[in-house]
Amino acid sequence: MKVFVSVDIEGIGCVVRSEHSSPQGREFQWARKRMTEEVNAAVAGAFAAGASEVAVADSHNVGLNLLADELDPRVRLVMGSPRPLSMMEGVQLGFDAVFLVGYHAMAGTADGVIVHTYTGRIASVKLNGTPVGEIGISAALAGHYGIPVALVTGDDKAAREARELLGDVETVEVKQGLGAYAALCLSPAACNEKIRAGAERALRKARSLKPFRVEEPVQLTVGFTTASAVDRVTAIPGVERLDGTTVAASAADVLQAFRLFHLMTDLVELVPFI
Ligand SMILES: [Zn+2]
Repeated sequence: MKVFVSVDIEGIGCVVRSEHSSPQGREFQWARKRMTEEVNAAVAGAFAAGASEVAVADSHNVGLNLLADELDPRVRLVMGSPRPLSMMEGVQLGFDAVFLVGYHAMAGTADGVIVHTYTGRIASVKLNGTPVGEIGISAALAGHYGIPVALVTGDDKAAREARELLGDVETVEVKQGLGAYAALCLSPAACNEKIRAGAERALRKARSLKPFRVEEPVQLTVGFTTASAVDRVTAIPGVERLDGTTVAASAADVLQAFRLFHLMTDLVELVPFI
């Protein structure tokens, strides 16, 4: 079994605020170490369950977070940016199961730690009317290539979101969200052990899991936090304004829908916040 691991930072145990997740933050160097430890735990679990190969995509910010020197030497690492598939770059090379480690709930989720969807400028994303965040988007991209998501780790809200969307996926909760920037946390050692055991269980049942497939054509709906964002993204052919802050577009498949969404997230960085 070949395993693809996409890792974000906001759903890592003991990570709760931008001091952890922002490269300028005073706790970022410590958070990178935690992120690397949780990846190593997931990798250890995967190999214990019989994985033949593991690739890891460093998927927070510009893709320069994991401490390569401390990474399990058996893995290959996708790092840097920009990348066409962003958090899932590399999955198109062919894998049997996907792990989403350190993931967080979608923008707007109550009591989820550092919730957002790609950028703080996005209020909501829907695929054929179904709300998705980064968990759903990554699962849909994996599904496009016929690969199921076997494991999602993060806070309790991320785990709930994953189960509601993906059904029988294995989830590991490393913290209980108490607000957008606060959580009841386990010790790093306890998080690592929970993830190692969860990854092993996940891979053992991966063969019975179904990929998350989005019916084609795909109707993409994106809500923004400002009307100025919509002024910018309606420059993309086929993108129509639904109301002040919402647009919709039709795409042949989820890969095309993601390309449109990804372009929108880049474009909105060019307009003011108000
Ligand atoms: Zn994220």
